[in-house]
Amino acid sequence: MGVIDEVKQKIDIVEVVGEYVPLTKAGRTFRALCPFHSEKHPSFYVYTERQSWHCFGACNTGGDVFSFIMKKQGIDFGEALRLLAERVGIAIPSRLEPEAGKDERERLYQVNAAATQYFHNLLLNSLAAKKARDYLGRRGLLPKTISDFQLGFSLNSRNALKQYLVERGYSQGELEQAGLIIRQDDGKTHDRFRNKLLFPIFDIRGRVTGFGARVLDDSLPKYVNSPQTPVFDKSSGLYGISLAAATIRQQNMAIIVEGYTDVITAHQNGFNNAVASMGTSLTEKQVGALKKLTKNMVLALDADAAGEEATLRATGYENTLNAEVKVLILPSGKDPDDVIREDAKTWQYLLEEALPIVDYTFDMVTSGLDLTTAKDKSLVVDKLLPIIAEIKDIVRRAHYLQKLARLVKVSERNLEAELGKIRVSQGRVKEPPSAAVTRRLPPLFYSPVEEGCLAWLLQYPELKTHCQGLLPEYFENSENREIFLAWQKVDNLTSLREKLDAAVHEHLDSLVTKSLPPTAQAEREDVFASYVLRLREKFLRSLVAKREEVLAVEAESGGSAAELAKLKEQGVEVSVQLGEIFAQRSRRR
Ligand SMILES: [Zn+2]
Repeated sequence: MGVIDEVKQKIDIVEVVGEYVPLTKAGRTFRALCPFHSEKHPSFYVYTERQSWHCFGACNTGGDVFSFIMKKQGIDFGEALRLLAERVGIAIPSRLEPEAGKDERERLYQVNAAATQYFHNLLLNSLAAKKARDYLGRRGLLPKTISDFQLGFSLNSRNALKQYLVERGYSQGELEQAGLIIRQDDGKTHDRFRNKLLFPIFDIRGRVTGFGARVLDDSLPKYVNSPQTPVFDKSSGLYGISLAAATIRQQNMAIIVEGYTDVITAHQNGFNNAVASMGTSLTEKQVGALKKLTKNMVLALDADAAGEEATLRATGYENTLNAEVKVLILPSGKDPDDVIREDAKTWQYLLEEALPIVDYTFDMVTSGLDLTTAKDKSLVVDKLLPIIAEIKDIVRRAHYLQKLARLVKVSERNLEAELGKIRVSQGRVKEPPSAAVTRRLPPLFYSPVEEGCLAWLLQYPELKTHCQGLLPEYFENSENREIFLAWQKVDNLTSLREKLDAAVHEHLDSLVTKSLPPTAQAEREDVFASYVLRLREKFLRSLVAKREEVLAVEAESGGSAAELAKLKEQGVEVSVQLGEIFAQRSRRR
């Protein structure tokens, strides 16, 4: 839970507003003379259930607890958040003293970026890098590809990189922390990467987190990587993700290969949805990261290792993704790099032939067996039933149970009984995590429509020109409103981040990485327009509901006829606007 939600959860708007204006309970709401305009009859209301306020008088506006404090104190969102956080005992670092850990990570990204540039320049220009350039030339890599992936070369020197970076103001401690230099027992240091071809590893936001490095002769090990650092975790990174993300989203599919050069060659040949796992097998964390972009994954597996890998992990990935994973089987002894360089059409063909991983496992297990014999039948059941038992999705589980039953000619019911026993004994039938983990915020504190609309707007900046008709007040959550307002003043995500208070960054990140359904460019405007419409409708509906509560209260307490008439008149206006929305929506259909 983000800090903003945490504050919202602990704060009660009635209590906060009550400190500024005397509130009187009226039905399920609280009423007061509006603190923002002068009036004789109270038209300012606070809603406990919605944790919001609204002035039906001259202001005709409202919002949440943050916007109340901002307006009342004349402060910005960050200040209001800190004020309220302090009140409920939540510590938010002041923006003048950025979080130590965060600042340190920022420095590590910077030092990695500086090293990337240094290595890249050497690869392009230094005499010593000739063998690296020759190697890349032999592999058919084009200058554009080398530049896209920012490939580099490190000199065969103990201190060249260190010297270069220290001269540019980076400390030895930072270089060590970034894993660029190694400190020996005697306290002396040396560059980690020497005489190597370098593959900078970018995260999805295009920041360099670490490096992969390849030797240029036959020495071993062939590859070395950056060590684990505060910004680099080999088990969660995906090589090529910054360049692949857009295509993965667009094509709604990711191909996972094994090596750096596999990714590079794939991209050079137009397969821009390829990423590499940077290890022999994909981890849950990597699958989790991909899941934000697509549910459809194809694993390119080596023919020799494929069987085992698939059997081992078939259902793990699928359960994480809650979708089917396919496997592309490579010709024996070849990696994607070889296949694509020989003929990109073969790769395309293999891709089309990719099999769902469980089907592939069926094929693997049954190949070479005689399914007319009792012995082989029970062997097959022993191997496949546990795999089926792990499938979380009941429809898919039933499908494969049926397939197995047909294969071994045993009744489905018998297998099902067996399956039940396995599921119990596995104990691996993972129940949803405990309530504490899955506990959702109450609906008050987040709004799927607001957040969906913003996610589209942030992820497809071209939609910015379609924001007429989208008013800031449609965003009832202040943090969303803040982001929307700031986004109109900048033209990229980096500037947006800078403009926003650090306390909003976490929320911003969740929007920027929110998974959206793949949509053709031509349709995005339509999707976005319908979001704007829904947001407007949500806003108006909430206005109607608030007004109705007030009308009920006023009628009961014998409010003045003039006030009642005014409220009703405003209500009519809103109904007309809602009517327009319905009309627009039916025109769209
Ligand atoms: Zn007012």
